[in-house]
Amino acid sequence: MLADNLFLKIIERKIPANICYEDDRCLAFHDINPQAPTHVLLVPKKVIPTHADVTDADRELLGHLHLVAAKLANQLGLSDGYRLVVNCRDRGGQTVPHLHMHLLGGRDMHWPPG
Ligand code: 5GP
Repeated sequence: MLADNLFLKIIERKIPANICYEDDRCLAFHDINPQAPTHVLLVPKKVIPTHADVTDADRELLGHLHLVAAKLANQLGLSDGYRLVVNCRDRGGQTVPHLHMHLLGGRDMHWPPG
């Protein structure tokens, strides 16, 4: 079940987070329940509930998120590799209804994912 939009509350500084990057279009902060030594969530400031809700109007924003993810990975010392994950809706394991990218690194990743 998708819960409340916690990430909008973090963007609006209504609840605290360990923020590691911000610009006019997105915010990145450390996951409260990390699944790897580095686990950062990268979220657009625009509210897009799920990956399935993106439109052509979001093309530039989506590209921006990927560029920021690559820069953040480098800044966080993940030049030997990392994983980006976008969970989409209930069967994709999404729990917060605000599009976000998980940036995971600092350990070997396995395939297939759970
Ligand atoms: P999803 O399951 O929607 O793809 O990812 C949601 C992520 O948000 C989870 O990894 C979860 O640990 C993280 N999360 C949930 N609540 C909070 C919170 O209040 N603060 C932070 N920093 N992360 C949260």
